[in-house]
Amino acid sequence: MAGCPIGGLPGFGKHGQEENDMQNSKYITVLVPGGLLDLGKVEAISLVAGKYDLTCYLTSAQNLRLLGASDDNLEEIKGALAGLGLIVKEPGRFPKPRICFGMPYCNLGLVDTFALSDRIWSRFGGRTGVKPKLKIALSGCPASCAGSMLVDIGIIATRNGFDMYAGGKGGALPKIGKLIARGLTEEEAVDLVGELVDYHASKTGKKQRMAKLIDEPDFPKRITS
Ligand code: SF4
Repeated sequence: MAGCPIGGLPGFGKHGQEENDMQNSKYITVLVPGGLLDLGKVEAISLVAGKYDLTCYLTSAQNLRLLGASDDNLEEIKGALAGLGLIVKEPGRFPKPRICFGMPYCNLGLVDTFALSDRIWSRFGGRTGVKPKLKIALSGCPASCAGSMLVDIGIIATRNGFDMYAGGKGGALPKIGKLIARGLTEEEAVDLVGELVDYHASKTGKKQRMAKLIDEPDFPKRITS
């Protein structure tokens, strides 16, 4: 197996392969800002996946997970990916927003979601010390294809500016986020993302979903719903 083929997934091996599958059950997640993979990134990932016999899996957060690593080569693979300019997910990294493809590709799109995602990533992507369990999504219109109401921080473009939701989550006990701001400018929406991430960090020990914090009296919201 080389590159990113379908099949041959770790854990789904033929008889007699179980032990090998267990050894190769480690993975590395490559962050893909905006869900965009240019040709250079595709080639870099293909090179590393081919060399280490890894399989590519697309995550629901629009990242790329390389399956089939082992304790023996995990750090080496991370180094190879970083050396090729790819961003490897590590604890404390800012959570890259999941986005819909918005304007100009979707005829309902009200904003260029790639550009706004870039803006958020440029401003916050270098942050460290971000607490786990924080997810951000950005949708280019109220149809909310990126699932903005089902994440910790959700942004939705409307004809009257950006609405923001917080405290949504999926999982076994899903929750719809609460509307915390309405009709923001892009600048205000980006500022509020920063405020929310800071608030989450200040109130969280190891890890925590925003849903647990949303009813705190000092929660950073622009409207009371
Ligand atoms: S949320 Fe709106 S703009 Fe984004 S993909 Fe869905 S319909 Fe299109």
